Amino acid sequence: MTDVIVIGAGVTGCAVARELSRFDLSVAVLEKACDVAEGAAKSNSAIVHAGFDAKPGTDKARFNVFGNALFEPLCRELGVPFQRNTTLVVAFSPGDLPRLEELKARGEKNGVPGLRIAGRDEVRAREPNIGREVCAALVAPTGGICCPYELTFRLAENAAANGTEFIFNCGVRTVVRSGAAWRVEAEGGRVFETRTVVNAAGLYADVLNNQVSAAKLTITPRRGEYLMIDKAYAGAFCATVFQVPTPMGKGVLVSPTVDGTLIVGPTAENIADKADTRTTAAGLEKIRQAAFRTWNNLPLSGVIATFAGLRACGDRGDFVLGEPPDAPGFFNAAAIESPGLTAAPALGVWLAERIAKTLNAQRATFNAKCETCWKPFREMTNEQRVTAIKENPAYGRIVCRCETVSEAEIRASIRCRIGARTLDGVKRRTRAGMGRCQGGFCTPRIIAILCEELGLKPEQVTKFGGGSWMIGD
Ligand SMILES: Cc1cc2nc3c(=O)[nH]c(=O)nc-3n(C[C@H](O)[C@H](O)[C@H](O)COP(=O)(O)OP(=O)(O)OC[C@H]3O[C@@H](n4cnc5c(N)ncnc54)[C@H](O)[C@@H]3O)c2cc1C
Repeated sequence: MTDVIVIGAGVTGCAVARELSRFDLSVAVLEKACDVAEGAAKSNSAIVHAGFDAKPGTDKARFNVFGNALFEPLCRELGVPFQRNTTLVVAFSPGDLPRLEELKARGEKNGVPGLRIAGRDEVRAREPNIGREVCAALVAPTGGICCPYELTFRLAENAAANGTEFIFNCGVRTVVRSGAAWRVEAEGGRVFETRTVVNAAGLYADVLNNQVSAAKLTITPRRGEYLMIDKAYAGAFCATVFQVPTPMGKGVLVSPTVDGTLIVGPTAENIADKADTRTTAAGLEKIRQAAFRTWNNLPLSGVIATFAGLRACGDRGDFVLGEPPDAPGFFNAAAIESPGLTAAPALGVWLAERIAKTLNAQRATFNAKCETCWKPFREMTNEQRVTAIKENPAYGRIVCRCETVSEAEIRASIRCRIGARTLDGVKRRTRAGMGRCQGGFCTPRIIAILCEELGLKPEQVTKFGGGSWMIGD
């Protein structure tokens, strides 16, 4: 019998698992994919929202502002890049100005510090590449950027170091009450008995909630498509620049990423298929048209990748959190759409404390530092590089030339507790394959390393598990 089963190893599930590992509880995370961060956690805007967008009084507003404040210490502990680069919401016509005032007032109600409205000259001085039509902008100094998949991976790695078990390729089919406990049945006939359950299953959290509660929930996927712009344009924007929001979302943004690229998007389109993460010509054209207003010289020749993510939009207008009245011991972290990345650290703290109280758990020994992770070669000084190569010559063999990723880092990413098992797993842990050539040169080398480390044949190596083999018959 486990104390807690967390279903889903996205940023929410991993944040909850890490916080639970502070207590003397046995915790297992069941994930249907072959790795962490295979859902929305891998494909979002990567913005740590200030908190002016959510409606005052909602859980979205509360956990956004609380989560934002936790990012600095959390990212320091885990060694995840995070920058408070400031968020701007730009008005392109005098008609937009009342919307900026509204957002400012809303943010102040939510407790967002430092909000103010800047005029055209100040905005243009801050961001010389901003569109010519700019009139004014809401300035939110607590807005930030981070790497969502690195955060998820390191939350999981740290939870595992503190005793949490992670089981991949383990999709949960049913959750049913079993006396005072829960019986969780997963694919492959695997059965788990647990005292409590955390439902952090992203797009599928409605299915699990509806198995245990009469308070039904519907989650609709809302697709967001993006363009990623090459590092050659790093510095084109320092702040994250939004346009005024629409009823479907926060609108199209242009933002630097912590890795030096620029992200442009997303669209917002409700779709029927929870697995449809295709990009479309129409979606990319919408981004192009909207983003040109923010960045008149948007360099389409600098686009190195396009991708799409699916928001888990619930039908209650807010996150769905905690125990349904008719299912005590079953804790929802459901309908976690934006600002779910920002809220994740706060959701982790809140849920873990409630579960610990329910189970009467005590604090346990906990190491907050993610110690097993490696230092990226590209971030080392020359002196550090010389020392690293002396200690481990594999640091001297660069596998991904675009992102300067060494063989040592790729091997470390496979050998760590929550080790990479696929090409995408290596890519998200190290950035190998994320540069301008998008893996054109390094993919065969990474396949060879995965084979050596895991005892696989090349034809067994996949991009992201399942049947996504890299080499056909
Ligand atoms: C286009 C887009 C832009 C966004 N931009 C931002 C942003 O800039 N800032 C921000 O704060 N938020 C943003 N968000 C929201 C944020 O990405 C999500 O709220 C967050 O990633 C949700 O994390 P999660 O762990 O709840 O869900 P997910 O990351 O989707 O994880 C759920 C996990 O559960 C697993 N799973 C599902 N069913 C089962 C099952 N039956 N058994 C086992 N495992 C299962 C899935 O495989 C998945 O790994 C954005 C989202 C999207 C899609």
